[in-house]
Amino acid sequence: MNAPVKLAYSACPHDCPSTCALEVEVLTPERIGRIRGAKDNSYTDGVICAKVARYAERVHHPDRLMHPMIRTGPKGSGEFRQATWEEAMTAAVEGIQAAEREFGAESVWPYFYAGTMGLVMRDGINRLRHAMGYSRMYGTFCTSLAFAGYITGTGKLAGADPREMAKSDCVVIWGTNAVNTQVNVMTHAMKARKERGAKIVAIDVYRNGTIDQADMGLVLRPGSDGALACAVMHVLFRDGHADREYMAKYTDDPAGLEAHLQTRTPEWAAEITGLSVEEIEAFARLVGTTPRTFFRLGYGFTRGRNGAVNMHAAASIAAVTGAWQHEGGGAFHNNGAIYNWDRSLIEGLDAPKRHTRTLDQSRIGAAAAGHHPARPAHRWPWDRAPRRGASCAGGAEGGRSGLHTSRRQAAA
Ligand code: SF4
Repeated sequence: MNAPVKLAYSACPHDCPSTCALEVEVLTPERIGRIRGAKDNSYTDGVICAKVARYAERVHHPDRLMHPMIRTGPKGSGEFRQATWEEAMTAAVEGIQAAEREFGAESVWPYFYAGTMGLVMRDGINRLRHAMGYSRMYGTFCTSLAFAGYITGTGKLAGADPREMAKSDCVVIWGTNAVNTQVNVMTHAMKARKERGAKIVAIDVYRNGTIDQADMGLVLRPGSDGALACAVMHVLFRDGHADREYMAKYTDDPAGLEAHLQTRTPEWAAEITGLSVEEIEAFARLVGTTPRTFFRLGYGFTRGRNGAVNMHAAASIAAVTGAWQHEGGGAFHNNGAIYNWDRSLIEGLDAPKRHTRTLDQSRIGAAAAGHHPARPAHRWPWDRAPRRGASCAGGAEGGRSGLHTSRRQAAA
């Protein structure tokens, strides 16, 4: 009989909102085998995505880069030679020091983003930056728009517990192709469908795997999500599905919102979104008559120029219906602000040299060419105090207390 495979317990290293708990087969001290989702983690629930289930293929792939390489030919020639770590580190340090000597510390710009790095591996780079007085980076190319739009409404990057999707009667998966990129969303949404007969609505700018599995699929024009959301809220007010009592208690300007929406009819939105009036009416009716509607709002909102207002409008639907007050209802984008990390140690937020210029991550070309004006020091909100709780480089906690408030915040 074969000896039982030894298991190690870990967490997925990817910068993915699921943060799955993993069970890893340890075949030898140097080799891993299969990876499975932990069954005793109530969000992972034994399910992980295909790419991480087959992580061993990547970790042990013969083509994996295992050593530093130094270019020996002209750029683009692909000519490299293997170097030792010491040689590579020395070359990097000498290059940085030469730039500092000639142009000053701010000529060095540590530029990074996420991927397979956790808080220490990723944000520890900021500790070096702040200790040395290098230029800072405003992270703009991933989450900024969606975070800003969501926080504008809730005041905090936090929402309903995503496990509550399993207790929903309608799950709206908006701006994320969960079937392929957020498998855990589908785990809980499918549980709701199986056990409660919940409806699944998928909204995106192209027909994807999630729309194929949904009861209602809405394919709208890129950047037009806010128009759909406004028309939905118009119908909710028009047809008596707006929870006025909830709004009076927990939102800041329901009358102003209702007035604003007067002209945002389904006909108006149909012109903008490319959806039919019937589709918009049907979606509005479904969320208006289903108190336990859960809006799972994804990162698609960050990929267009109207991202922040689109996110704010979509999240506001849950405030108009009062879905937040029901278990299985409300909205969720990211719960980065619930952990209250003090990142001072990781990021060196108490370093005296940290108030340097800030460069926009999305404008690396212009910055490298010297055409991009830097933001002066003390310009960003997190300059005022050690940043707590934001989960991604582009995220920030705070914002005004706005249109919608979670029942948890309300209860607090
Ligand atoms: S879904 Fe995949 S990438 Fe995301 S946390 Fe789980 S295992 Fe990692």
